[in-house]
Amino acid sequence: MTPGFDHETDVIVFGAGMGGMCAALIAAHEGLDVILCEKTGQVGGTTATSAGTLWIPEAGGRGADDVAQARTYLEAETGNRGDHALREAFLTSGPDAVDYLQRHTDVKLRPVGPHPDYHPDKPGWSMQGRALGPYPFNGRLLGKDFALVRPPIAPFMVLGGLMIGRDDIPHFLKPFRSIRSFFHVAHIVTRHAIDRLTRKRGARLIMGNALVARLLFSLRKKDVRLRLNCSLVELIGEPGRVEGAVVNFNGTPTRVRARRGVVLATGGFSASKWLRAEFFAPRIVPHTSAFSGNSGDGIAAARKHSGATGDGEGGPAFWFPVSVLREHGTETVFPHIVLDRARPGLIAVNSQGLRFTNEADSYHDFVEAMFRSHATTPSIPAHLICDRSFIRDYGIGLVHPGSSDKGIERFVNAGYLRRSETLAGLAKVIGVPAKNLEWMVSEHNRFALTGTDEAFGKGSNALNRHNGDPANTPNPCLRPIVQPPFFSVAVYPSDLGTSIGLRTDVDARVLDTDGVSIEGLYACGNDMNSIMAGAYPFPAQWDPKLGIHVT
Ligand SMILES: Cc1cc2nc3c(=O)[nH]c(=O)nc-3n(C[C@H](O)[C@H](O)[C@H](O)COP(=O)(O)OP(=O)(O)OC[C@H]3O[C@@H](n4cnc5c(N)ncnc54)[C@H](O)[C@@H]3O)c2cc1C
Repeated sequence: MTPGFDHETDVIVFGAGMGGMCAALIAAHEGLDVILCEKTGQVGGTTATSAGTLWIPEAGGRGADDVAQARTYLEAETGNRGDHALREAFLTSGPDAVDYLQRHTDVKLRPVGPHPDYHPDKPGWSMQGRALGPYPFNGRLLGKDFALVRPPIAPFMVLGGLMIGRDDIPHFLKPFRSIRSFFHVAHIVTRHAIDRLTRKRGARLIMGNALVARLLFSLRKKDVRLRLNCSLVELIGEPGRVEGAVVNFNGTPTRVRARRGVVLATGGFSASKWLRAEFFAPRIVPHTSAFSGNSGDGIAAARKHSGATGDGEGGPAFWFPVSVLREHGTETVFPHIVLDRARPGLIAVNSQGLRFTNEADSYHDFVEAMFRSHATTPSIPAHLICDRSFIRDYGIGLVHPGSSDKGIERFVNAGYLRRSETLAGLAKVIGVPAKNLEWMVSEHNRFALTGTDEAFGKGSNALNRHNGDPANTPNPCLRPIVQPPFFSVAVYPSDLGTSIGLRTDVDARVLDTDGVSIEGLYACGNDMNSIMAGAYPFPAQWDPKLGIHVT
C-alpha cells in the first residue's frame, strides 16, 4: 500500500448513472481494477428516470455516410461555438462505442424507428436512423439487485409500478381496438400482477430504467466493486496531477489511490443551489427534472484542483417545461415532453393572454421561447389552454386521456387544472386579459380551419407533425378550441440536466484553467462540458461517456 492511502485500485469512478456505470464497465472489460462509488443507496441517477435514448449517427441504422450528414447538422446547430475536436471525437467514436457495448456487455441497443432530429430546417437533418434505445430488460434477472435500480418518476408508471412506454400508450388507451392491442395489454398486465406478488414494482423495465438495469447486470457479471452510500469528498494530488480521492464511505473518510485515474460522473449540478445561481442567472428556473443527488460534487472537487468549466456560451442547461401538482403535502413535477403540446387543440399563452411560440417545438426550444418572451412580458408561468375534447382525446400533463369528469375534478380541486365554462371566465381565473385570450383562441381556430398557423407555424414541420395526431386534418397539430369547459395548466421552466461541465480533451481528461490536461482526472456524463454548446439538436443529450478512454 502506498503510504498515505487506505486503499488502492486502478480506477475509481464517482457516480452510478449512465456515465459512471459505463466508464466503470468499459474499464473493467479492458482489464483494470475498478471501484464504482455511488453517493446514494441506489444506482441510476437521472438516467434511471430518462427515456434512455442515445443519438449515435451510423449506429442508428442510416448507414456509414450518415456521419458526414450528422456533421453537417451539428455544424449548422452549433456554428462556431464549442469544441470542434470533441464533436469530431463523438461522431467518429460513437458507432465503435455502441458496437463495443453490444459485443461485450448486456447493454443491448436498437434503433427506435422514426424519431426526428429537432430542427428540420437545418441541413443534414434526419427523420430517423440516429436514435437508439435499450431493449426492454427483465428486472427479475437481477435478483436482489433489482431493488438497487432507482425507479422511474411516479407519473411515468401506472397500476402501482408498471412502466408504460410511448409505444404502449395506444394499446393501453384502446385495448379492445384489435386482437394485437388486447394481447399486448393482457400480457403486460398479467406479468405485472405476478411481479407485484413479490416486488414493490413491475420488473418489465424499459427506457432509461432498462439501460441502468442492463449496466448493473453487466457490472455484476464483471464483478466490479460497487460501493453504495459512498461519495466523493475531495481529490488528492498536486497541481496538474490527481493521484486519488478522499471518499466518504458511510460516514468514514477513506483515502483511495487510483493508479490509472479518477473518473468524475456525478451527474452535473442540477441540485446545487450555488452552481445554479452562478450559471443559470438571469433565467428563472424554479424546478429541476434531474435527480436530486446531482449537487455538482464532481465539478466542485475538480475546480478546487484547477479544473476549468465551460463558458456556457449558448446556454447552461437543457430544458423541459413542467407543471406541478401539489396535493396531500407532496409535490409532483411533470415534464411536458411530447404527449400534449404538439397535439391539435392546445395553445400556450403568457401573462398577457398572448401566444409566444410554436407549442409543438421541442421542449428545450419551448422553454427558450418562454425566457425570450419573459424578457418583455411575464411568461413564467405560461399557461397551456385547451378544451374538454382535448383532455378526452389526448390528456394534458398529469391528466390522462379519457379522464372522466370525476377524474378531472381531482386536478381542479388541487389547483393543477384551472377550469371555466367560458374563455373570459378562464382568463379571469388565471389572471390574463380576457379580450386577448378570446382573440388568441379565435385566431388559432381560424388557423385550424385553414391548416396554417400564420402566427407561429404550429404543425408546419416534420417534428411538429410527428408529435401531432396524424388522424387530424388538414394539420395534425391544429384543431379548434371550442368545446366548453375550457382548461389551463401552468407550466414553468425546469432543467433536465446541466450542459455546462468540466472542460475536457478528446480523451475525456479534465483541462485546467490554462487548457492543459490534468493527469489522472477524467469527466463524463453531465460532469463533462457538453459538446452541443447550448444547442439541443436531437432527442438525446450527447453520451460522451461512451467515448471515455482511460489511459
Ligand atoms: C425525464 C427525463 C428524460 C430524459 N431523457 C433522455 C434521453 O432520452 N436521452 C438522453 O440522452 N438524455 C435524457 N435525459 C437526460 C439524461 O437522463 C441525463 O443527462 C443523463 O442521465 C446524465 O447521466 P449522468 O451519468 O451524467 O448522471 P446521472 O444519471 O444523474 O448519475 C449521476 C449519479 O452520480 C451520483 N453522485 C452525485 N454526487 C456524487 C458523489 N459526490 N459521489 C458519488 N456519487 C455521486 C448521483 O447520486 C447519481 O446516481 C432525460 C432527463 C430526464 C429528466
